[in-house]
Formats: sequence, structure tokens, C-alpha cells
Amino acid sequence: MNQRAHYEMLLESQYWPGQRLVDWQRRQLVDLLIGARAHSPFYRFRLNSVFSASGGINWDRWNDIPILGRADVTAHHAKILSANPPAAHGPFKDMMTSGSTGDPVTVRTTTYLVQLATAAIWRASLWQGVDWSKTYLNQLYVDTPLTAITKLPGSWGPPWLRSAQRGRQYVSPRPFSAHELFEGMVSTKADYVTVAAGLIVELARISDAAGRPIRVKGFFARGGTVEPYERDYVREVFGADIFGLYSSKESGSLAHPCPEGPGLHVNDEHVLVEIVDDQGWPVAPGEEGRVVVTPFGSTAFPLIRYDQGDRAVRGAPCACGRSLSVIERISGRTIDLFRHPDGRVRFGQDQVAKLRTIIGAKRWQVAQIGPTAYEVRLPQGIDYDLTRLEDFRLAMAEGLFGDADVTIRFVDALVANAAGKFKEYVSELPPAAA
Ligand SMILES: [Zn+2]
Repeated sequence: MNQRAHYEMLLESQYWPGQRLVDWQRRQLVDLLIGARAHSPFYRFRLNSVFSASGGINWDRWNDIPILGRADVTAHHAKILSANPPAAHGPFKDMMTSGSTGDPVTVRTTTYLVQLATAAIWRASLWQGVDWSKTYLNQLYVDTPLTAITKLPGSWGPPWLRSAQRGRQYVSPRPFSAHELFEGMVSTKADYVTVAAGLIVELARISDAAGRPIRVKGFFARGGTVEPYERDYVREVFGADIFGLYSSKESGSLAHPCPEGPGLHVNDEHVLVEIVDDQGWPVAPGEEGRVVVTPFGSTAFPLIRYDQGDRAVRGAPCACGRSLSVIERISGRTIDLFRHPDGRVRFGQDQVAKLRTIIGAKRWQVAQIGPTAYEVRLPQGIDYDLTRLEDFRLAMAEGLFGDADVTIRFVDALVANAAGKFKEYVSELPPAAA
């Protein structure tokens, strides 16, 4: 892929007339669908409703394609894998993600998907006036062998731009605590930081409490929403703005904030994003529904009408002049932080997700129920390896700050909260204590 040519196309295509954008999407979808039907046994018959006898696509029947859930992805993993993904989209990489619905999911992502995401993030950075000649620190969200903050060669902006060639980039390995990350921001003098949304306020609190004011130009917030009062606080402490990046490990970069309007613009050139009701039909602007995505770069593990477990409100067309479709807001995507009385914070997803294999747990809920007390809830009816339960409990205690008091409880069912959302990692501390 010629990344420069593609990026320059994105700067134009955001203003394409709607029909031209639709035509572009359909050309990408045709390639994805034909590849999936030919090389993924799971899709051999599943897409029949849209293929006509002559092999053409009947777009009016798009909604007849069944929605693919996370449970389907787990149950049919081997059959969804493409036997012959386009070589030009590689190398390919297997990735595990555990999202809001509680099922861990492994998908095979493509380098192509990452390249598309990079180009889309550059466009969004341009919208926000990001200065690529400055210093960038990225907290990684995938495992790496790195154990310390590391300077990477090259630029973090478009590498052919002279201004970007002056920029420096660092990565911070995971899992890193907010304290470690804050020290990294100080030592690298980072101007821009990409980090999980829930950590940004924590970083501001650390800076505030330590009386060590540093200036930051902007945060890119991954995987969550940031409340207006949190934005104000972060601006007060760091002088920084927060840009929300709506993305997922398996689907790449999905939508970015409009610089003029209130919503997020979908990267329509890279992904078909549908917001649908419980029957799978599109909701009207202003209404909330499930987010169903078809990322065009998912050629090694085709995700066609995939429901990754988010809810969002569909937006009306934006007054800024861009024809890219609009998400008014993401409503169902919150991951709770675990907090230690000494100020350390952890994401359960980063810290303990892998431990489930010790006892063969598939679904679970890990809840913080006291300052250092945690409860692991395991649904009945699963064939757990009970001989390793104590090993599991000790590994959980170690993963949760090293001193957690962990209780294991078998439950009839995992339950959603009052808002109807299931959280795999949940803090049940009262707000005052949290
Ligand atoms: Zn706009």
C-alpha cells in the first residue's frame, strides 16, 4: 500500500459526494465478501442472500446477512480464518481482546488494517491541528517484549513531511501503572500522549498531587469516553486537550472527533459502520443502537456485520461539510479501573485477563469490592480445572497489586448492571472511596 497516496486520498475523500463514498465502500466490500466466501468456510453460505446467480452483489439485501457476535467468533474461530488472505495485506498477527461482553476473542489482524488506521489517525490529527514535529509517547495496548520506555526510530507523523521528520516518538510497554507512565511523560517531555481514556484523569491527579506541573499539548484517548468535567480538569492541570479515538483491536480505527461539529466522523473509506436496533435495522439519527462493523482490512479473519459489543447514538449529517457519516456519541463503552489505597491503578483487562486459562474459565467477572478485596465470579456449568483453583487465586492476588484479598464465587449467571451493561472488570467501591 502506498501510504502517502492513500493519506492524500483521505484528505479529498472526506468531502466526496455521498454517492461516490458509497461506490468506494462497495468496491472494498466486494473484495472482502468474495474473499470470505472463497476462503473462509464459515462464510461459504452465510453471504448467499447478497450474491446473485451471476455472482454480482444485491446491496438491497445487505441487512439479510446475519450479524456476527463475539460468541460466534469464539465458537467458529477456525472456520472464519481465511485459508488464503491477500499476501499484500500481511504480515498477519493473532490478537486477543476481551471486551464489554465478557467473551475473550482472538482474531487475526492484518498489517493492511494497521496501515489504514495510521492514515486515518493522521487525518484526524490534522483536523485537531496536531504538531508532528513535537514529541509523542504511546502507551501500547498489545504485549511486547519491551520493559521500559523506548525511543523508536522514524517519525510518528506522515514520514514524508519535513515537519514530521523532526518529531520524536516513544512507546511505553504495558502493563504500566499511571505513576510509571507519568514518570515517562516527565522524562521524555512528551507533548502528545496516547493512552487508555480512563487513565488520563489519573495522570492529572498524580501531577496535581505531586505538585509537578508539566505541559502537554494533547492526549489521544483510547477505548472509552471522557466526561466534560474530566476534560476541564485535564486542561487545567496539563493545558491539554483530549481527542477520543474510537477503535478496537479487531476492527482498527473506526471514528474520530470532528474539529467543528459535536460528533465523531466515521472512517467510511475503511469500514462500514452500521448502528442498528435489536432487529438489525438501521436506527434513525438521534437514536441509540448496537454498533455493527465491517472493516475492509479484516481479510485474514473476515468480520462481516460484526457486533463487537458497543452501543452508540447515530448522528445527523455534519454541518462542517465533510460527507463522512457521524456518530453522535459512544454510549456503552466503559471499563472500570481498579484502585489501590496507595494510589496505584490498574485495568483488569491488562492485568489478569490471561489468568483465566489456569482454570479454563471462559466468561467471568472480576469485581473490586473493597480497598484491597476482590471477587472473581465464575458462572456454574463450566468444567473448570478445580485442582488449580488455589494457584489461580494466588496468581490473581499477585496480578492485582500483589496484595489483593481474592475470593472466588460460583454464580448462577453473570449479571448486567442497572444500565443493562455487563462489565467484565467492575469496581463496586462507592464513588467516594474510588
Ligand atoms: Zn464534521
